[in-house]
Amino acid sequence: MNYEDKTLTHQGYRQPVTLPTSNDTPATPTAYPRARNHDRNSDRLPLPNQHRPLASPDTSPGNLPRDHHFGAIPVSQPVFSALRDMGYTEPTPVQEQVVPVMLEGQDLVGQAQTGTGKTAAFGLPLAETLDPGEPHVQAIVLTPTRELAVQVSGELRRLCRRFKVVTVYGGQPIRRQIDALQRGAHIVVGTPGRMLDHLTRGTLCLDQTRIVVLDEADEMLDIGFAYDIERILRLTPTSRQTALFSATIPTRIHRMVYRHLKRPVWVRIGGEAEPVEQVRQVCYEVASRDKNAGLEEFLQSSPSTSSEREGQGQTLIFRRTQAGVERLVSYLRQRGYAARGIHGGLSQAQRDAVMGAFRAGRLKLLVATNLAARGLDIPAICQVINFDIPQNVEEYVHRIGRTCRMGRPGTAITFVGEWDLEAFEVIHQHVGDDLKWGRLALYS
Ligand code: AMP
Repeated sequence: MNYEDKTLTHQGYRQPVTLPTSNDTPATPTAYPRARNHDRNSDRLPLPNQHRPLASPDTSPGNLPRDHHFGAIPVSQPVFSALRDMGYTEPTPVQEQVVPVMLEGQDLVGQAQTGTGKTAAFGLPLAETLDPGEPHVQAIVLTPTRELAVQVSGELRRLCRRFKVVTVYGGQPIRRQIDALQRGAHIVVGTPGRMLDHLTRGTLCLDQTRIVVLDEADEMLDIGFAYDIERILRLTPTSRQTALFSATIPTRIHRMVYRHLKRPVWVRIGGEAEPVEQVRQVCYEVASRDKNAGLEEFLQSSPSTSSEREGQGQTLIFRRTQAGVERLVSYLRQRGYAARGIHGGLSQAQRDAVMGAFRAGRLKLLVATNLAARGLDIPAICQVINFDIPQNVEEYVHRIGRTCRMGRPGTAITFVGEWDLEAFEVIHQHVGDDLKWGRLALYS
């Protein structure tokens, strides 16, 4: 975490605040301090779950009466049945806070840990406020990776049953996506590059888009999608509602909020870059040359809770580079483990096949670059192994957040090699005593 992030955390995120915003005013170096001063003085919005009314006036003729309840949130019959079929009986904290704000049509900045139910938090308002009778794109969701786009689409399809959801991302034949868009889409989920591609070709029109969701916005900026996002937003009506979700809120996210969101409500669930509490975190000192042997020892014996030992769980191993993933996969396969790898150098078809197998539970052992660190939700992952140490705290938190999804047990193992001490120290300082030392039998 950089200094900037910490400063912002202390200044502004304890409760929702308003920022003065204009879609037309470019952010300038002087504009940003003005926004912060405004925060401090200011006409703060009430906390969403305090005296904010939970039901809002219907915003489109397609809306159904919200005469059922999901916790304290009034929902319509189709959404109620969908939630029941998905096994969601109570809203998660992020849903409790985000849904009422979005149902009221307000712009929102959501800072939440991964695995907290963020997708349904914005999916539910889409299901309630869009109109299935209007045959055009009414909402878009932008995600940083193809895998996340597929995952979000799946959740939205289950939740927004009355709506057509189309997924667009690079690496898949564009023709298939054009056909799907032509058959009609209410909600389009995709990566910014491919979404812009469709807009440029004229195969996607966002003239009547009412809601834009930016998911994992910090990651999208890290990948270099800032320009594409700007262009996409400019092709949507300024009257739209915008919800931006981001694990961290560095200055450039603030700038994006200032430029594109209108008096957003800020919702923060959990600390910034806080590890998921239930993850058991253990680190092992291991020389680089011994890491393969250490890993094997671990794969054979180290799952520590009975549920892990039963072999139901899956293991996700992180490496820093694509070549590292390939090397480790071939080593493991030679040693008889049915491991596979995923990284950005694979074709989309290969990535889809690997993710499909892992999601379905057919594949137990996946070696990945950070491509798999963000947002992916595979409940059966019971252990994450940082074969190569994460380069910073955020990376660590995101990687280990792949286990313990929705409160299930899980362990995060980190190998600390002779070159890793500096990076480890930063992580250790942040995580503190929750990170325990273990010892591999190799060295005893
Ligand atoms: P997300 O943060 O959207 O990736 O969601 C994390 C996991 O939580 C997914 O497996 C969701 O299916 C699950 N989930 C989301 N909301 C609820 C809920 N209200 N009750 C139970 N599970 C949920």
